[in-house]
Amino acid sequence: MVSALLQEAPLWLGWLVTLALVSLTTFIAWRAWFADRADGRRRCPRCWYDMAYSEGMTCSECGYTAPNESALARTRRHWGRGFIAILAAAAIIVFVYERSVQVGWTGLLPSRALIWTLPLFSSGNNDAVVQLATRLNQGKLSDRNLQRIIESCTDGDRGARPGSTAWASKYGTILDRFRPVLASRRSGSELYDMERPLLNLPPVITITAREQWPAGASARIAVQALNWWPFGSDTQLRIAPLMDGAEPVTAYFRGLNPPATPFSVLTPPLEADRTSLEVEVATYRRTSQTGDEWQPVSVSRLSVPISIGGELTSMITPVSGRDLDDAIRASIIGLRKWNGGAIPLRFYVNPRQTAISAFDGVAIGYISEILHDGQVVLTDQCWWMGGTGISDIQFGSWSDEGGLKKLAEMDLRAGRWEVRIRSDPTLAIRAGEAPRCWEGQFTIPLSFVQVPGVAPEPHWWMDEEESPETPRPDDDAGADSPDGPSGG
Ligand SMILES: [Zn+2]
Repeated sequence: MVSALLQEAPLWLGWLVTLALVSLTTFIAWRAWFADRADGRRRCPRCWYDMAYSEGMTCSECGYTAPNESALARTRRHWGRGFIAILAAAAIIVFVYERSVQVGWTGLLPSRALIWTLPLFSSGNNDAVVQLATRLNQGKLSDRNLQRIIESCTDGDRGARPGSTAWASKYGTILDRFRPVLASRRSGSELYDMERPLLNLPPVITITAREQWPAGASARIAVQALNWWPFGSDTQLRIAPLMDGAEPVTAYFRGLNPPATPFSVLTPPLEADRTSLEVEVATYRRTSQTGDEWQPVSVSRLSVPISIGGELTSMITPVSGRDLDDAIRASIIGLRKWNGGAIPLRFYVNPRQTAISAFDGVAIGYISEILHDGQVVLTDQCWWMGGTGISDIQFGSWSDEGGLKKLAEMDLRAGRWEVRIRSDPTLAIRAGEAPRCWEGQFTIPLSFVQVPGVAPEPHWWMDEEESPETPRPDDDAGADSPDGPSGG
């Protein structure tokens, strides 16, 4: 866009003129103070008469007698002229400084110069990026400069290589601001040209797990994969725990990014001599372009150190209390049923009910059973870390697939329906490094809501056919919503 370039012409011109004026005045000052040197000439230090042909130390012009020979070799300095020039330079600098205080330093820099500064910041939330985004919104950023921003992000820098967490917090954050704009310029489902460099950006994958486990426990590894592919791209993760007897799992994520809730992988029972948990994660991407197929993008191996030893009871101390029970009871939302769609029956919990200080350092792990006239129909496992620092990273769950199929075929209005919650420390340790875990059990009536219409599309699923029949309550647990289930 020529207009965007012309709009920045005053900025470039302003800097050019400023630079020229400061250089000129500084040069004048230097000339005045240092340039008129003797260079072997003998000059009267008072009237600067050339004494090359004069004998002795007395000036024949003004009569001044120099004390010694070196007095005749002094540099002639025009003090006043130099001071005026240096004052002029200072005034220009003060003027530019005042302007930068008024409009911010980024407001004075042309976009291209702002882009040059991007690698200098440690975070992607910096003044230069905010200024560039503002110019983009106002139509003042040229396409060429937008492309330069994208290139700067896909290149990364020495301290922030693509695929690293440093890159994610710096360039990934920048891309998050500009990526939706690129998507809005698409014609139809076809990607906008400037989005194509994003296609091969490696995702940033992190795994986390509790450090200390009892031997024989089934460890939980949380795998989180963030990507900056073109807006709306789907993600497929093939996760293989590198352990004997471990089953690889595949998870599909819809849309922009996998949700904040990571994918939980459970290991086979841990051997007593194990010192780390390792997984191989292969990622595949599919853009929202019509007819696009899954494309492999990256394969990485990740490892997290663990130690095996001690009894479960020595690692985590049970705590109980009415306020704790009440909060957990409030977190059980119940069943929702739609008339159709993927996963038309979902069981919701809201872990944010436990985001209270009474739960600080307390992990929650329980088995939930849905009972029909006292008979167990569906069994779920659920775990998360309570407390004021509650985080989706530490939430996970497992559902009995057969039970859900059975439940979907039953009449939820006939008979007596209840939910039985029983704490289980072997589930609580999956949530993370908590010194304590909630202990308790209760049975409450099952809340059930029939929702009109088709179930919202799930954020993610595991079924190969992509029309999941297996709800994984993790995602819909409302962990990412403070007052209820996210609902897909
Ligand atoms: Zn003289």
